[in-house]
Amino acid sequence: MTIYRAPLTDIIATMRHAAGLDAALAEAIYGDLTADDIAAVLAEAGKFAEEVIAPLNRVGDREGARLADGAVVTAPGWKQAYTAWAAAGWNGLPAAEAWGGQGLPMVVQSACLDIWNAASSAFAIGPVLTAAAVEALVAHGTDELRRLYLAKLVSGEWMGTMNLTEPQAGSDLSTLVTRAERAGDGTYRITGQKIFITYGEHDLTENIVHMVLARLPDAPSGTRGISLFLVPKFLVNADGSLGARNDLHCHSLEHKLGIHGSPTCTMVFGDNGGATGYLVGEENRGLACMFTMMNNARLAVGLQGVGVAERAWQQALAYAQERRQGRLPNTPSDSPAAPIVHHADVRRMLMTMKALTEAARAICYLTAVELDRARLAGDPDMRRRAQDTAALLTPVAKAFATDVGFDVASLGVQVHGGLGFIEETGAAQHLRDARIAMIYEGTNGIQAIDLVMRKVGLAGGTAVRTRIAAMRRTAQRLLTEGGPAFGTTAARLRSAVESLDRATSAVLTSLANDRLEDALAAATPYLRLFAIVQGLAALADVALAAEAQTPGAKVALARFFADAIAVEAPALEATVLAGAGALAGAEAVLGC
Ligand SMILES: Cc1cc2nc3c(=O)[nH]c(=O)nc-3n(C[C@H](O)[C@H](O)[C@H](O)COP(=O)(O)OP(=O)(O)OC[C@H]3O[C@@H](n4cnc5c(N)ncnc54)[C@H](O)[C@@H]3O)c2cc1C
Repeated sequence: MTIYRAPLTDIIATMRHAAGLDAALAEAIYGDLTADDIAAVLAEAGKFAEEVIAPLNRVGDREGARLADGAVVTAPGWKQAYTAWAAAGWNGLPAAEAWGGQGLPMVVQSACLDIWNAASSAFAIGPVLTAAAVEALVAHGTDELRRLYLAKLVSGEWMGTMNLTEPQAGSDLSTLVTRAERAGDGTYRITGQKIFITYGEHDLTENIVHMVLARLPDAPSGTRGISLFLVPKFLVNADGSLGARNDLHCHSLEHKLGIHGSPTCTMVFGDNGGATGYLVGEENRGLACMFTMMNNARLAVGLQGVGVAERAWQQALAYAQERRQGRLPNTPSDSPAAPIVHHADVRRMLMTMKALTEAARAICYLTAVELDRARLAGDPDMRRRAQDTAALLTPVAKAFATDVGFDVASLGVQVHGGLGFIEETGAAQHLRDARIAMIYEGTNGIQAIDLVMRKVGLAGGTAVRTRIAAMRRTAQRLLTEGGPAFGTTAARLRSAVESLDRATSAVLTSLANDRLEDALAAATPYLRLFAIVQGLAALADVALAAEAQTPGAKVALARFFADAIAVEAPALEATVLAGAGALAGAEAVLGC
């Protein structure tokens, strides 16, 4: 059985020194909130996660959610844990105080998501959809919808969902066919089927608020004809009390590879004439509302990668300290078997796990601080620049951190040897649970396309160039301030930054010359290149800050990342520069 300890020291060091929390506090964007306040919140989150949620992770995996007579029953203990979690105010942490939230910054919410996901990602994903519904309502909802729904969604008394996917409409939502007919009284009748809906039905809350994308009969085709509707499980009376059951139900639950505790539902709307829906935003402008919902949800899913990676790492390290196999080199033949943590190859795996986890954490938190700055900074120019940086970093945070979640969980299985493949140890669950995060909230391939097609060119490339300049400054600081313990970290970072710089120029040139195939073929390697260079710069920032106090672990981690991971940079650059050329002749292989 795996024990989870919230890594508060690492989390706080990453926030302060890699994500720029100290700078943001100094700019006073967080008002009178202090680093000590934040540490106190995180300590409470850690306690709750360790004591209440983490023990349910295996139960959720083994028992899963079940469908009986149209109702979904969550695994034993889940309802009590969710109720206690919401009652403690965790659901409303980032929401505005006007709606009953705590109004805490996104970076604090991100650290909490890191913690909740490490405790149980199947548990943590539900409230992410509620938060998305809250954001959509705050940004696009009518006063009446906000009055009736927001406070209950913020408190967690009701949960939200995101109903986008249909059998023929996955990554490409332009083909969705769920219908919305005007009822003549300002409401709409929704008819259709949605698949793969996370927490589409469950017993955690008495009402469920579905945010549903649908198409009006006279809507233009494609994404310009999509509208967003709020469709509650139970209609809500004018006084806020629950009314009649709406015309929607969960048809079935998916049997899936992981996150068994999270019900993944096929939802049917309108079997009996149409579910009552309320327009959110304007007719045919649902795509903009959807992006509001998805943006922060993408960061939240990135943090699912970070959380699962952290849990897998903690478990693998504990196992490697206990398990004895083989003698160390240059020890007498009768010496006892050593704990495997002393073998170089096991050290390599564990260091890779930790270095990737910390890098992914840093990129997610950095994104969160920029989102905070974009909302809270006093200077409009600073807000706009931060908005661009957050937009640039969001697909990187989502895709890299979820790739890391899976890769680290896989290494965790490897550290356990054969036992890693056996369910009892729990290492296999992390691997299974981590896999979905690379797929939902936009597959990682779609994130990479977003990065090269829409984000690298933001503000004429200024956003990406500004980030690269910050990475260069870290390399320079390493040269002047880094001691001998850093080894070749400075040189490695400098060389990796130059690779990223050239690769960025290549992508921008492809876009400028309409060579879209080159940009698209380069998308995933470019995202990885960006992430590992940003990741190394972030680890170096933390190490430089730590070295002044306690040299050791942080420096070793930055150095390892430089020597073992960032050395991929020139290879990734070569693939980016090859563009579509790397896929030349694929027709012969693929037969099409
Ligand atoms: C457990 C689970 C929970 C989910 N929860 C929700 C939810 O709550 N709400 C919801 O609405 N949906 C949900 N989904 C759906 C999820 O968001 C989709 O599965 C995802 O967006 C991918 O769509 P798809 O499965 O149709 O794959 P496809 O779109 O068919 O993609 C298949 C492959 O083709 C690639 N691809 C597709 N288009 C392109 C392109 N233009 N260029 C390059 N590559 C491309 C993809 O990257 C992928 O590798 C969930 C799915 C699962 C499995």
